[in-house]
Amino acid sequence: MSEGGYDLVVVGGGPGGYVAAIKAAQLGLKVACVDKRGALGGTCLNIGCIPSKALLHSSHLFEEVGHGLGKHGIKVSGVELDLGAMLANKSQVVKGLTQGIEYLFKKNKVDYVVGAGLIENPGKVVAQANGAARELTTRNVLIATGSDVMPLPGVSIDEDRIVSSTGALDLKRVPKHLLVVGAGYIGLEMGTVWRRLGAKVTVVEFLDRVTPGMDGEVSKEFERILKKQGMAFKLGTKVTGVDSSGESIKVTVEPAKGGAAETIECDTVLVSIGRQPYTEGLGLEKVGVRLDNRGRVETDDRFGTSVAGIWAIGDVIVGPMLAHKAEEEGSCVAEQLVGQKPHIDYDIIPGVVYTTPEVASVGKTEEQLKEAGITYKAGKFPFMANSRARSVGLTDGFVKLLADAATDRVLGAHIIGPEAGILIAEVAVAMEFGASSEDIARTCHPHPTLEEAVKEAALATFAKPIHM
Ligand SMILES: Cc1cc2nc3c(=O)[nH]c(=O)nc-3n(C[C@H](O)[C@H](O)[C@H](O)COP(=O)(O)OP(=O)(O)OC[C@H]3O[C@@H](n4cnc5c(N)ncnc54)[C@H](O)[C@@H]3O)c2cc1C
Repeated sequence: MSEGGYDLVVVGGGPGGYVAAIKAAQLGLKVACVDKRGALGGTCLNIGCIPSKALLHSSHLFEEVGHGLGKHGIKVSGVELDLGAMLANKSQVVKGLTQGIEYLFKKNKVDYVVGAGLIENPGKVVAQANGAARELTTRNVLIATGSDVMPLPGVSIDEDRIVSSTGALDLKRVPKHLLVVGAGYIGLEMGTVWRRLGAKVTVVEFLDRVTPGMDGEVSKEFERILKKQGMAFKLGTKVTGVDSSGESIKVTVEPAKGGAAETIECDTVLVSIGRQPYTEGLGLEKVGVRLDNRGRVETDDRFGTSVAGIWAIGDVIVGPMLAHKAEEEGSCVAEQLVGQKPHIDYDIIPGVVYTTPEVASVGKTEEQLKEAGITYKAGKFPFMANSRARSVGLTDGFVKLLADAATDRVLGAHIIGPEAGILIAEVAVAMEFGASSEDIARTCHPHPTLEEAVKEAALATFAKPIHM
């Protein structure tokens, strides 16, 4: 069956694809979105951002009620975990949100096609499901097929005892000892969830720091806090073998730089060494869409691929694998198709780790500025000196602001502390407007708030902080 006349067929209904589809429809285009998962929202809503944040919140409540209320004079006894109910709540959250996207498609008149999309040529996508094929003719195709778990060579993931992030969102029991391979944000978030629920957690990381790529000072503080919470780390260490033939799993590790191997016994392994672009089954080779040396769809600065009329966005192209980055790109492509000239500043894409405390960053790190030879000023303010943080007992961490030494323009912000993911937005907006640290410091911030720590860090950058 051939259905035609689309202006845009989007392949992939994740945050990149569904936002592109809705935006394009809002701009008057005739749009279809093909997704093979059977539920919209992609990795983010189904097996990523949303279920992980639901579990982070539930496990945080469990830990707080079990151990965190005594200092407030609240006595609680008999706290028990109902893991089944916790996981069911998470699944309910996911279901509600994925159905919400379906509703938004209907509201905006986007045709939702369930099926695996094959790009036959720049003007035709074939969606296959249950042995049936639907041909969609179109003026433009958008590849928004996202990413998949990066496998660890020699280790087979069974999503029961050896899991990826997907299995780690659905463990049927609390592990006695969870070994996490990879100290990136996904491994640390999921490790945190299961530690709070009672697991011993050991994180093995090849590099010599947690959250590689993050500002070095923040990484160090993050590692210190996670250790204080009970997480164990083996940094500068590589996993060389996983033997799951016995009752316990034996993981062989050795120093990344070489040295004696040792064996760690555990009952669950989480492999979280990154994600890779997903292009399987799209027919890209046949249609002539070029990939780069890391398997990502190659795009120009307007998201055009090597084939006219075929565009690509999100995790499947270059850039940080983050939902909000994919969303911005989705909007951009839609706007371009109607002749607008949108722009994304890739220096202002915030990143957040949703542990407690949260870690958030935007813009350049100190290491990046040094490498680029940019002279900068750094201003830092600890939450220990912030009255709101003191009054709620969340004093770990600090705000660090980086500004150009000559112009005072804010170049980056790195926050570890309570509500860091909320606080970072103020700096991101300021950076969009080309603000200086003095602009932030002279803006009246309400008292007593955590936001005052951002103002004080800005004061520390251009002058001196008041409360320190
Ligand atoms: C555990 C975890 C936690 C995360 N937490 C965060 C977070 O807190 N914040 C954040 O910003 N990011 C987070 N991410 C990353 C985020 O999920 C991704 O960056 C985001 O989903 C990428 O969006 P996308 O639209 O490019 O692709 P995806 O969300 O991967 O969507 C692609 C969709 O395309 C479909 N598809 C693929 N091929 C085809 C085909 N041939 N035909 C039809 N459909 C196809 C897939 O089934 C999928 O539904 C997390 C990821 C994980 C795994």
